[in-house]
Amino acid sequence: MANIYDIDAYVDQIALRSFVRSFSPIAVSKVLNLPLNPVIERLNYLKDGKKLTLKYEIRCYEDSNIIKVVDDFSGFIGKKLYCKNCDDEIEVGLDNIFPVYYIDDDYREYLKKN
Ligand SMILES: [Zn+2]
Repeated sequence: MANIYDIDAYVDQIALRSFVRSFSPIAVSKVLNLPLNPVIERLNYLKDGKKLTLKYEIRCYEDSNIIKVVDDFSGFIGKKLYCKNCDDEIEVGLDNIFPVYYIDDDYREYLKKN
């Protein structure tokens, strides 16, 4: 069974792949076969340690197109955003906002040098 240190190791692995900038907690939970809650807890711990930044993707309901990436989604709930792919406006609700963790650039540089 994977543990929280496997989460740290996995984040480091992702950080060393230069083509990946961000990942979702669900992806980590699937890859490591761990329940989502402890994964989110650990990722937030890494965020507090400045290794990660938490952002939110607002996605289209129809095609999952990422319409906007924001630091704080509270101002967007109930508002409408335009999806270029669908040529339509979608209403923002909690069910189309997804947390995404971005690897901190300084942390990535540090890993590459060590
Ligand atoms: Zn769309």
